[in-house]
Amino acid sequence: MTTICPRCGEEGSLCRYRRNKRVYLYVHHYQKGKLIQKCYIGPEEYYVHTEHILKLSLTNLNDLDFLEVAKDSINRYISKIEIEKIEKERKIKEAIAKLEDFKKFIDDCINELKIRVKI
Ligand SMILES: [Zn+2]
Repeated sequence: MTTICPRCGEEGSLCRYRRNKRVYLYVHHYQKGKLIQKCYIGPEEYYVHTEHILKLSLTNLNDLDFLEVAKDSINRYISKIEIEKIEKERKIKEAIAKLEDFKKFIDDCINELKIRVKI
């Protein structure tokens, strides 16, 4: 299954490994069909509690593109739902409702900015 890696933000394949009765998740990254990196995500049952590794730690605040961080966060939010096994449909519907609210928030911000410059 192709997903956005919650650790590095790149596209990859979600893989499950069973060890000592537990299942661990990794994202495998390929380049030209060759495995180039494995990102450890964590035990499957604790995946929803995996700490977000934000781009904030990779750059300084002056160079930070806050909209890119927001887009990245939304992609990570969606990719976490994609690997849900329990009540997936309900979680997808909940995500749609939250994203619709977020869209309204963005529309309000755009309208407020347009008023300021009288577009
Ligand atoms: Zn990765």
